[in-house]
Amino acid sequence: MTATIALIGHPVAHSISPRFQQAALDAAGVDAHYEAWDTTPEALPAAIERLRSGDVLGANVTVPHKVAALRLIERPDPLAELVGAVNTIWRERGLLHATNTDVAGVLHALADAGVTLAGEHVVLLGAGGAARAVVVALRRAGAASLTIANRTLPRAQALAELAGQGLPASVCELDPGSDALRGALMRAGLVIHSTPLGMRHGPDERATPLPADCFHRGQVAFDLVYVPERTPFLDATASAGARTVGGLAMLVHQGAESFRLWTGREPSLEVMFAAARAALDGAR
Ligand code: NAP
Repeated sequence: MTATIALIGHPVAHSISPRFQQAALDAAGVDAHYEAWDTTPEALPAAIERLRSGDVLGANVTVPHKVAALRLIERPDPLAELVGAVNTIWRERGLLHATNTDVAGVLHALADAGVTLAGEHVVLLGAGGAARAVVVALRRAGAASLTIANRTLPRAQALAELAGQGLPASVCELDPGSDALRGALMRAGLVIHSTPLGMRHGPDERATPLPADCFHRGQVAFDLVYVPERTPFLDATASAGARTVGGLAMLVHQGAESFRLWTGREPSLEVMFAAARAALDGAR
């Protein structure tokens, strides 16, 4: 019987996960179908219950359910609890387990790009759900300091608490006129962008959170946005001489980690990247 792996989110029609996950399942010879379940918040408990049926291997969980799903799973792992959100669910001995593979996605994407996080001074733009996974990743990798810049300051302050004692964190407004932000950017070897600015179908497709004169040569700029692959933030930072890392690598690596948990098999990253790029090209 063909097994099922679900993507639970709302909306899910634009997601490219079904494309690259199915390509990797087929390439590995796993008899499973990865399918999108468009699920409203009211329907989330029923969708989670469906994961208990015999033919389902597990699920990815995406916006807006990552936080709510954590409370509906009996075995979230400590990482999911720490981040406060889950993106991967699987079944073991009849129980639903969950974790957050976005943390591994961040770490693998930066490692692939040759970025060393240990001892690094980092500026994080944005303080939403994805930023939580970034903070946990930075903590694990031993970054030296973190400045969180966000439009809504209390949200940045709440996220700074997650950094904990191991990672000294300060906060400021996401405003190019902020001296605190300019100072932190001068010192930072790595700047990470986690707002949806510049994202296709986002609040402003042409916007960068900060202009080019905020960045400098030798810095690494990592954009979590992956549609389009080349974003206004990456253009602005590249024009200042920074080295850029796009969000697609994080997406594929978090998906690869989920694949391992559902199947116990190693996915072909080459197949995943090729299918993800083809899906993005087709969506243009
Ligand atoms: P979220 O929880 O909704 O958080 C959005 C963040 O962006 C908040 O800090 C919010 O600030 C800020 N923001 C939103 N609109 C803004 C605007 N017009 N101007 C300035 N700041 C604004 O979203 P999320 O789940 O963290 O996702 C953020 C981005 O990361 C999305 O583009 C998503 O596609 C991307 N992402 C990528 C991956 C990957 O694998 N590459 C994984 C997850 C997410 P306030 O607090 O002031 O509202």
